Amino acid sequence: MIKLFKYLRPFGFQVALIVVLIFLQTMADLSLPTLMSDIVDKGIAMGNTAVIWKTGIYMLIVAFIAITFNISAGYLSARTAIGFGMNIRKKIFSKVTAYSLDEIDKFGTASLITRTTNDVTQVQTTVFMITRMMLMAPIMAIGGIIMAVTKEPKLSWILILVLPLMTMFIVFLTVKGFPLFGIVQKKLDRINLVLRENLTGIRVIRAFDKILYEQKRFDNSNMELTDATLKVNRLVALLFPFVMLVMSLTPVLIVWVSGPLLENGSIQFGSLMAFIQYSTQIMFSVIMITMMFIMIPRAQASAVRINEILESDTSIKNSVKTQFPDKPAGFIEFRNVTFSYHGAEQPALNDISFTAGPGKVTAVIGGTGSGKSTLVNLIPRFYDTAEGEILVDGINIKFMEQEKLRSLIGLVPQQSRLFTGSISDNVKFGNDSADDAEIRHAAETAQAYGFIMEKKNKFYDIIEQGGLNISGGQKQRIAIARAVVRKPLIYIFDDSFSALDFKTDAQLRRELRKETENSTVIIVAQRINTVMDADNIIVLDEGRIIGSGTHSQLISACSVYREIVESQMTLEETV
Ligand code: ADP
Ligand code: MG
Repeated sequence: MIKLFKYLRPFGFQVALIVVLIFLQTMADLSLPTLMSDIVDKGIAMGNTAVIWKTGIYMLIVAFIAITFNISAGYLSARTAIGFGMNIRKKIFSKVTAYSLDEIDKFGTASLITRTTNDVTQVQTTVFMITRMMLMAPIMAIGGIIMAVTKEPKLSWILILVLPLMTMFIVFLTVKGFPLFGIVQKKLDRINLVLRENLTGIRVIRAFDKILYEQKRFDNSNMELTDATLKVNRLVALLFPFVMLVMSLTPVLIVWVSGPLLENGSIQFGSLMAFIQYSTQIMFSVIMITMMFIMIPRAQASAVRINEILESDTSIKNSVKTQFPDKPAGFIEFRNVTFSYHGAEQPALNDISFTAGPGKVTAVIGGTGSGKSTLVNLIPRFYDTAEGEILVDGINIKFMEQEKLRSLIGLVPQQSRLFTGSISDNVKFGNDSADDAEIRHAAETAQAYGFIMEKKNKFYDIIEQGGLNISGGQKQRIAIARAVVRKPLIYIFDDSFSALDFKTDAQLRRELRKETENSTVIIVAQRINTVMDADNIIVLDEGRIIGSGTHSQLISACSVYREIVESQMTLEETV
């Protein structure tokens, strides 16, 4: 929590102002009971009307000042807390955008989302409470005690009895409650994850009739969250009645004790009333401190989770001295590259070496899980290699500026992601400065022009969230157009033709050939047809290269390749 306070720095002046306002307000509040006792003891008891009027007006003014200061302080607190939350969210967002996929995998998307929303809100609310109430509580408590004791020293032993009792009870509950708050946030992450999976996978869940199963999974997480929250709330529920009880019994005790003293005239009626009011003010501040004890551990659990994000640095950084080829050509070389995912037992890629050059098409084929996507994801440096190196135009990509490296690459990922916006916006995502003619040309190359023209608003047709309103094949083609409009030196197609029919696939690759004459093209595919005419075909199996060469070379030299060919050829012939 303390670490996060540095994000309060921009609000330093406001916070200082709040402190001053609250101090003055508390002073005003503390003077009211004394003024009132003056009215009673010096005015009413003595029948002095002038004193009643004078002190009464004085009280009104003081009360008005207290209210004005209170409202201003509240306004400033709200502004400070909201601004504080906004700054932290902004910081988290920029941090997460800079993360390599390694860190994103580590935290998990669901957790990153809860941390940015729920956890920040938790901390933000606490800052509001601190500035709004908790600053006031200690001043009020100490001031109240001083005033009460000077007013009626004979009764002050009651406070000495009550206050420690209250404090001990609160501390006890806080110590018990602290670990629970962390658990609640974890359960919230879990429920977020299940919900996300359910919503994004709703089609699969329905198709496989897993609604009941998913329902159970959700119920379980929901139950766990409920249990944890219940435990926390039970503690809190114990706390408040106890505090309220003490608060109501104390005046009773005071009145009871002071009865005889009133009778023999050793205390006056007005100052007894003032003493009761002071003790209420003190108790009230103790309640505020109680709330602080409840809120701060809770916010602390959230703050820890936020700090985890803010403090874990991306593992992929630009090196201090970056290099870049004078005349990039797009030549790629893998040298003995081995790579493992975070926490995986076996490397996903093992001792991979190959080269891919401009004007050539390099294809990667292999079963699912053989490491094809992993291989191409290393080229834009989404992950860093464990061993070996990847060179682009003879320079190790670790020494290149990431932005520059990526500017050379047009990537069509296996999962084509489109963004909410028009088709034109989505294509332009690849190149902001593309004009209409270039966008149209890219769409034509990607075989997307035909279906775009059939849309009501053509290029300005809106793609909904996640691209749900267009087909998988259409999505892939827009993603391809997005890469083409970039005119990159390196094209990477990760299984990008799988949702296309054979005819469109062939047509698209013919058009692409014209476009990519001087570029390095890497095509990942499952279909023999797609890779057959590549200049070099790499056959991957369990993360290792088990053969490479042209189609005809591989047919005679690589048994796995021959098997893939045979299985697919017979299939097509029978169709
Ligand atoms: P392909 O694209 O050939 O189907 P991938 O490259 O996607 O294969 O996956 C290769 C292996 O790496 C698989 O065993 C897969 O389970 C694992 N893998 C892929 N992505 C991740 C990830 N983000 N974290 C951990 N393991 C992964
Ligand atoms: Mg893949």
